[in-house]
Amino acid sequence: MDINAYKGVWVFAEQREGVLQKVSLELLGKGRELAETLGVSVTAVLLGDQVKDLAQELIYFGADEVLLAEDAMLKLYSTEPYTKVFSRLVKERKPEIVLFGATALGRDLAPRVSARVHTGLTADCTSLDIDEETKNLLQTRPAFGGNIMATIICPDFRPQMSTVRPGVMIKLERDESRQGEIITCPTDLEPADMNVEIIEVVKETKEKINIEDASVLVSGGRGLSNKENFVILDGLAKQLKGIVSGSRAVVDAGWIERDRQVGQTGKTVRPGLYVACGISGAIQHLAGMEESDYIVAINKNASAPIFDVADLGIIGDVNKIVPALEEALKQA
Ligand code: FAD
Repeated sequence: MDINAYKGVWVFAEQREGVLQKVSLELLGKGRELAETLGVSVTAVLLGDQVKDLAQELIYFGADEVLLAEDAMLKLYSTEPYTKVFSRLVKERKPEIVLFGATALGRDLAPRVSARVHTGLTADCTSLDIDEETKNLLQTRPAFGGNIMATIICPDFRPQMSTVRPGVMIKLERDESRQGEIITCPTDLEPADMNVEIIEVVKETKEKINIEDASVLVSGGRGLSNKENFVILDGLAKQLKGIVSGSRAVVDAGWIERDRQVGQTGKTVRPGLYVACGISGAIQHLAGMEESDYIVAINKNASAPIFDVADLGIIGDVNKIVPALEEALKQA
């Protein structure tokens, strides 16, 4: 393989029902940074049906060009047609780096594409950089149960492919003065490429909690002792106009729902304020929240590791401090 023939950074622009997923915009931000280091351009790859309007948005968020492939068979995500179109574009145009969001869709598509174009894939990255000397992509992700951060390279194959956790990278400000090119690509799909039939799409009716978008999170851990005590966090969250989240320990104990879990096997969050209540600060928890702008930790153990990442530490009983804070905020 002549790896020098591969140029440019690609981002898979994931859309659902015509709405771009936030992670794709975050990846465009990171993609720009990588591309500027390498002196190449950023390409967004947009697949779907009647999604042309989104192409311009991708340019506003940092793409130099958009490869647009539209087809009725790409309207709803289906593994085979998406894999076929994306893999063919990779083979024809030879990008150096390809980034996908580590969403349910990205986690399905990226490994298929990497197998079809015979390259490697690093899943669930939390950091990406360019090696100054070799110009290889440094792909960092938690390994060994989150106890180490492993940096993985793919020196002999191209493209270098990664899935990246939502919420880790920072999207650029939308800028309508950004210029770019939209290139329409044929899909060449045939009916035989659709090897599944989607009979019905059933949407979850439950209101979706999205802790990744919250600007304030009040997060609870085992220090709250039980499910009954855990509800004291609701009052503080209400005063701070925030959402309640928690550690894996409390999710496993059934005190809160799984979609509120912060950490390596939960969500990565970056709120303006993260209040950690009775959370020890295990490495797997820190991996999901340490990038928060301002961290307040309440813990009765002065040597709890959560204090190492906290901007403000309160040593004491969470069951007394949380109601006192709520009361003080009510009076303020
Ligand atoms: P504990 O570690 O038990 O800490 C409770 C804290 O509360 C202690 O620091 C204690 O001093 C304090 N405390 C007790 N009573 C009080 C009181 N009255 N007032 C004030 N403080 C008090 N964890 C996650 O959170 N997210 C993940 O995504 C995640 N993924 C994982 C993936 C793997 C592969 C593995 C192996 C583990 C993972 N974990 C994850 C689990 C993680 O290792 C910890 O076990 C977990 O984060 C601990 O949760 P905790 O801090 O609530 O509980």
